[in-house]
Amino acid sequence: MPYTVEERFLKYVQIDTSADPNSTTFPSSSKQKDLSKLLADELRSLGIIDVEMDQWGYVYATIPSNSANENAPTICFCSHIDTAPDCSGTNVKPIVHRKYNGNDIVLPDDNKQIISTTNHPYLKEKIGDDIITASGKTLLGADDKAGVAIIMDLAYQLIHRSDIKHGPIRILFTPDEEVGRGVEQLDMKKLNAHYGYTLDGGPLGDIEDESFSADAVKITFNGISAHPGYAKNKMINAIKIAADFVNALPKDEWCPEKTEGREGFVHPTSIDGNLESATVQLIIRDHLTTKLAEYESKLERIANTIVANNPGATFTFEVTEQYRNMKEVLSKVPFVTEYAIQAMERAGIQPRPAIIRGGTDGSRLSFMGLPCPNIFTGEMGIHSKQEYVSVQDMQKAVDTLVELVQIWEKHT
Ligand SMILES: [Zn+2]
Repeated sequence: MPYTVEERFLKYVQIDTSADPNSTTFPSSSKQKDLSKLLADELRSLGIIDVEMDQWGYVYATIPSNSANENAPTICFCSHIDTAPDCSGTNVKPIVHRKYNGNDIVLPDDNKQIISTTNHPYLKEKIGDDIITASGKTLLGADDKAGVAIIMDLAYQLIHRSDIKHGPIRILFTPDEEVGRGVEQLDMKKLNAHYGYTLDGGPLGDIEDESFSADAVKITFNGISAHPGYAKNKMINAIKIAADFVNALPKDEWCPEKTEGREGFVHPTSIDGNLESATVQLIIRDHLTTKLAEYESKLERIANTIVANNPGATFTFEVTEQYRNMKEVLSKVPFVTEYAIQAMERAGIQPRPAIIRGGTDGSRLSFMGLPCPNIFTGEMGIHSKQEYVSVQDMQKAVDTLVELVQIWEKHT
């Protein structure tokens, strides 16, 4: 008996693959490789001959073309095997709630964890579906094991059904997406694909081809130290300057707490220091890359004003590019997103184009030469104990990919 996408999913979520943000190794936690190994073995047992799991925990595999069209491009499907460190991923006990009836779902291992349609309105659309949750003590790991299960099920379908004509398909599983390092050791030459899709989106029909553009800013304020007993008119305390700076940032706009949709923000992520020197780190986000420089000069002006009020103090201002809006790449090859939309329509799904208020591996992959929008998996309530996924959504993602490879097969 072949596995269903549900059976695959239930198996994968029970393997602990939490990423570790404090680690300097790659992958950040070696347990992620437990899942890589299992996936590589399963791909081999499907009869795929070039399966490779490398030292970093990436898994690469090819489903060869069965098409007469020699120009059919190589398409990559990619998911990440790690789960978010925000919430425990140890001893995940998945529960299938058959034919969800619309009531609140109280998780048995912690009855304070209640998944309700008030907090999760999407659930209202899922009445009648089979909903999988964790048991209350851990996250579920649908982010992104739903994507992994969908791609594995696609592989099974493509190997066993000769009626589905497709060009070369590359499968890629990556570690450490959740700590922002998912493509760090990726070998693009080895991957050798023309276009790709990450399977890491949320609600049914979700298709995302736009992410934030992102910079990091590090501002170091330098004060003047003196013995506190004899500091009159000498000491300038860098801690106080840094605090003034943070306090001068707008509070009703321009921050994550007050923005949504296409609004960008600046967001202080850490502050540390002492009398002599204090550093504030910020992340800068907007869908328009040109806005980042605007935000940065505004920040620099605020720092200038604060320092001007404290004669003798100085500051340094450092900008680091993090990632860019993948739309800048994808708008040059609009058919990549259009084909995904067509595939959904053929599978009877209403597409929901959306923008990502964040970055994905797809944003980085797009700039590394693999234009790569993001497709839904059904994963919802991610990074929390209230994470859930609909089995039917996962199945419809498989149906979408089955249509998508056939659309690409005709591409010249
Ligand atoms: Zn994810």
